[in-house]
Amino acid sequence: MASIFTKIINGDIPCYKIAEDDNNFAFLDINPNAKGHTLCIPKREVDKILDLEEASYLSLMAFSRKVGKAVESAIKCNRVGMMVVGLEVPHVHVHLIPLNSMKDATFQHKIAMTKEEFVSVADKIKSFL
Ligand code: 5GP
Repeated sequence: MASIFTKIINGDIPCYKIAEDDNNFAFLDINPNAKGHTLCIPKREVDKILDLEEASYLSLMAFSRKVGKAVESAIKCNRVGMMVVGLEVPHVHVHLIPLNSMKDATFQHKIAMTKEEFVSVADKIKSFL
């Protein structure tokens, strides 16, 4: 069965899209640690990051770097953290999280955002791409 992220790529589930290229896709995390929390995923569904072929891994990292720089420009923060966890969704994803303290990196403290805020944050990040 297709992962929830494959359904997002295919447009079967809505998302706040940030960017895509031939191999990768970026969108806002629906349950963010911080405003601007973005996920970068390969379009091809693979569960674990270390199982990606090297070319796909490098492509995802280059894409995440580009999107991460846009997040850093758009969102006031100390720095943008890049994390790979994958315990919830079995489709490789790089978390890009604007960090001000370690609390923002723990996945234990979530923030609430309105639809309007998601749209506005996505538009702001996109404006730096
Ligand atoms: P992990 O698998 O690395 O533990 O985390 C999965 C992440 O995917 C979580 O931060 C969660 O909020 C996010 N997520 C899960 N389902 C959806 C969804 O349907 N849409 C979006 N945009 N994010 C999701």
